[in-house]
Amino acid sequence: ALVARNLYFHFGKQPVIRQVSLELYPGEVLAIVGESGSGKSTLLNLFYGTLSPTQGAIQASTPDLGLRPVSALSRQTLRHLQRTAWGFVCQNPRDALRMEISAGGNIVERRMIMGLRHYGQLREEALYWLQKVEVDPTRLDDLPETFSGGMLQRLQIARTLISQPALLYLDEPTSGLDVSVQAALLDLLRKLVIAENMAVVLVTHDLAVARLLAQRIAVMRQGEIIEEGLADQVLDDPQHPYTQLLVSSVL
Ligand code: ATP
Ligand code: MG
Repeated sequence: ALVARNLYFHFGKQPVIRQVSLELYPGEVLAIVGESGSGKSTLLNLFYGTLSPTQGAIQASTPDLGLRPVSALSRQTLRHLQRTAWGFVCQNPRDALRMEISAGGNIVERRMIMGLRHYGQLREEALYWLQKVEVDPTRLDDLPETFSGGMLQRLQIARTLISQPALLYLDEPTSGLDVSVQAALLDLLRKLVIAENMAVVLVTHDLAVARLLAQRIAVMRQGEIIEEGLADQVLDDPQHPYTQLLVSSVL
């Protein structure tokens, strides 16, 4: 579903991503873990096409044309794929949601972009997705500002998943939340990822989150992937000294 070959990315002169190669298989969840500033968000933005690599190539699956090189897409095609075939959930839902339109309006925006115009049908889909993310359906017409942080994140997730993206990028989706809210949201994400059969790249600094959601883990340090493997292997029997340090510092 996603192939990255020998990626480099610089902010000005500063190398932020170095020599990264990764593959993501259909239906798989890959977690990218690493400390703050290691380049996790930058890598996700390269995958999603928000940033272009200084060097190297990324291919991502598209509904009609199979694997396509992300940097060769026209602006228009890229924008369309970003709003339909791929999904990106960021840490702060306020950065993604439109605060001036209702919860329901936020949820169905992608369906409108995809051509659905029928009011009753849009309303029905919004209700269906509110229920899928376990938000009280009577909140359909309420403005986002009246929702708690955890509920806002559920809205962002519903808004993203409504187009049934084949590829989903999650950037610290539960980090800003209270521990109990985090646990409930992780549980929901796990259910949805299985039900929707998406390929997911999950960025997190929390190894427990990676263990809960991912089949495979890649460890980043200073822009490089220093270890990669099956989640249980990486967490229970880390090979690289840095991974050993990360794992032992959690216990
Ligand atoms: P965090 O866990 O804090 O979110 P991260 O692993 O996601 O960190 P990135 O945000 O990808 O890390 O940042 C990687 C490096 O790139 C950091 O050294 C950061 O200072 C630098 N960087 C990020 N964004 C910019 C920018 N817009 N301009 C210049 N440097 C940047
Ligand atoms: Mg980040």
